[in-house]
Amino acid sequence: MKLHEYQAKGIFEKSGISIPNGQLITEANQASEAVQSINGPPWVIKAQIHAGGRGKAGGVKVENDPAKVVTAAESILGKPLMTKQAGPDGAVVHQLLIEEGIDIEREFYLSMVIDRATASPTMIFSQAGGMEIEEVAATSPELILKEHVDPAVGWMPFQARNFIYKLDPALSPDTARGLMSVMASVYKLFLANDCSLVEINPLVITGEGRVVAVDAKITIDDNALFRQKELLELDDPREKDPLELMAENYNLNYIRLDGNIGAMVNGAGLAMATMDVIKLAGAEPANFLDVGGGASEEMIMRGFEIILKDSRVKAILINIFGGILRCDVLARGVLAAAKKTSISVPLIVRLEGTNVEEGRAILKDSDLEFLVAKDLAEAAELVAKQVS
Ligand code: GDP
Ligand code: MN
Repeated sequence: MKLHEYQAKGIFEKSGISIPNGQLITEANQASEAVQSINGPPWVIKAQIHAGGRGKAGGVKVENDPAKVVTAAESILGKPLMTKQAGPDGAVVHQLLIEEGIDIEREFYLSMVIDRATASPTMIFSQAGGMEIEEVAATSPELILKEHVDPAVGWMPFQARNFIYKLDPALSPDTARGLMSVMASVYKLFLANDCSLVEINPLVITGEGRVVAVDAKITIDDNALFRQKELLELDDPREKDPLELMAENYNLNYIRLDGNIGAMVNGAGLAMATMDVIKLAGAEPANFLDVGGGASEEMIMRGFEIILKDSRVKAILINIFGGILRCDVLARGVLAAAKKTSISVPLIVRLEGTNVEEGRAILKDSDLEFLVAKDLAEAAELVAKQVS
């Protein structure tokens, strides 16, 4: 579950990390009042959406004139913001954060994630922070520093020093202490809130040598939400992909991807293998959809409906190995969905396992048009051929 910047900054503040003073608004006419209660000029107007890259897309504005703050608020609120990380339709901005402008001397990058390779919380730090961090990572990876944390020991001050001693120019002792304290706090809040990501980009050194989190990004591990009831209240369903939201409501494991092959598979492992063979055959999956072992006819129908609703899908592959999920249940679910929504793209089916003959018969006796593949490799090739 992703948090908004203002929500993440609330957690930072509680953890002792300095943030700019600010106020959240939902209507443009609240902007002039906000300006009066916040230090400035300059003021910063920031779109609150879950996608990053807002600065480059015009979702972060720095203004010196109160009237311009209002104009900026009017121009951003209620409209979609086309950032690189948002989907093709952009993300509609429902809320703005108005903040005091910070006098930026240096911009650092600081984040914490779980590194799966070492199975440890890992802090990532770079003195080349700011909006070009992705480019820095691609062209000058040596500027991105990492420290793995042994969970039994926790974050150690020497690890912060490993980062700080490499800084050029060096920091004043006070600023260095401030930065060390932010790093220790990030580790603590990462654990306390069951985060999968904490990111501060930029983490700013001000002209006076203060350390301030100018941006904030937090993602909470969904699997821990059962014990993070307070955080669950910060959920903003408006930010979710409508198809992913629909899938969530039907307990389907669905993730939208960038390609054009819709796929319906049972079992996460088989789903991943199916993604792999689709790619091997030279095509790109439009989604990951694991209907699960014990999917009901209703769940199959909803899953298929979700795939059909995705306008980018140019061909569909159904790959089911019937174990607990029986092939006849699958077939009936697919037919039920097909009755509700017309299928205008080629459909490739590979069925194996429990009640496979019955499932095949149900599909064959219907007026559904589809191609049958005898195995996974053939299924992938067939489906890739439809879009090439
Ligand atoms: P993002 O593009 O979605 O990551 O949004 P950020 O919050 O990181 O803002 C983008 C950029 O706007 C930052 O990298 C800063 O350079 C600039 N910015 C944001 N807040 C301030 C501020 O208070 N003062 C100044 N001078 N620049 C700011
Ligand atoms: Mn940022």
